[in-house]
Amino acid sequence: MPGAPRAASLENLKAKTDNSGVLTLADLEAWSFDGTPLAVLGQPIKHSISPAMHNAALAAMAQRDARFATWKYFRFEIAPTDLGRALPLLHAKRFRGINLTVPHKVIAVDHIADISPAAKQIGAVNTLLWTEAGWQGHNTDGYGLATGTREDLHVALSRTHIVLLGAGGAARGAAVECLLAGCASLAIANRTRENLDALLASLRPLAGTIPLRGFAPGEPPPDLPAGALVVNATSAGLRDTDPMPVNLDALPTPAGVYDMIYNPPETTLLRAAKTLGLPCANGLSMLVHQGAKALEIWSGTPADVNAPIMAAAVRTALGR
Ligand code: NDP
Repeated sequence: MPGAPRAASLENLKAKTDNSGVLTLADLEAWSFDGTPLAVLGQPIKHSISPAMHNAALAAMAQRDARFATWKYFRFEIAPTDLGRALPLLHAKRFRGINLTVPHKVIAVDHIADISPAAKQIGAVNTLLWTEAGWQGHNTDGYGLATGTREDLHVALSRTHIVLLGAGGAARGAAVECLLAGCASLAIANRTRENLDALLASLRPLAGTIPLRGFAPGEPPPDLPAGALVVNATSAGLRDTDPMPVNLDALPTPAGVYDMIYNPPETTLLRAAKTLGLPCANGLSMLVHQGAKALEIWSGTPADVNAPIMAAAVRTALGR
């Protein structure tokens, strides 16, 4: 029975797609889905709440427009070494859109020919759109941050002084977004000085006349401007034992503190901000708005229509 193993793998695939399980490269090779698939790729991916967030929005979209009734968002566990195989396969299998999360955002750039100007500046993509010619790369994280800080803290990035913590991928995206938005100044702190210096050097051409500087997290310079928006883009705070990513007490009174971390909902930094009476918020709104923008790119449905539905879905998924 030469067809038996293939029939078994299709059965297995059907069970996984029906139950929104974690899919693999082997599942992609055997892919068969009667509808319009979307997916997030990452490693690890088990704890991603993106499927819950996107599928809630797709269900609401289907009620308004029957075309979306066959759209579904899946998750794939893909190793970085398999990304070069997975992306052409996803294109051939006509996935309408892809989200990329850790560790794929930067390495994917090498596999995409058509990249939006902002994503090119950032050097990372988190959203891919299927086109006849190949994948088109976007980065919606900056939109997510700008919309999240406006919504939660009533602070726009433009004409605002920004104190950014971190020099990794998320910090780079945030820095580019702040500079493109025309922030009043950008001061960046990071634990490892050489990573900070590399980030500052790469941002200088984009900064133009916007003041750009770096500092050690434990020793904020006394002449930093008051009324800055503090954005944590480090992973310090994911664990309760992590150190504070900046000495908040030593900053001239900030306008607010936004922590990109959303799980746990209250990091040590946010607790300290609350103690100081500062407006503060976690990164859940950024997650929601980057997702709503990605869905807009794939479907044409405006991000602000889906954002409230997606926000409710992530709160349910996180038990909040
Ligand atoms: P990276 O690994 O690229 O960068 C990590 C950064 O955190 C580096 O600057 C690193 O500093 C710093 N860091 C790590 N551990 C510590 C520590 N113990 N003390 C001080 N600094 C530390 O990660 P990403 O940039 O991709 O992500 C950063 C955070 O942003 C994560 O927590 C992620 O969950 C969150 N995020 C949230 C999003 C959202 O939608 N809300 C979207 C994207 C990211 P060093 O250079 O010294 O190593």
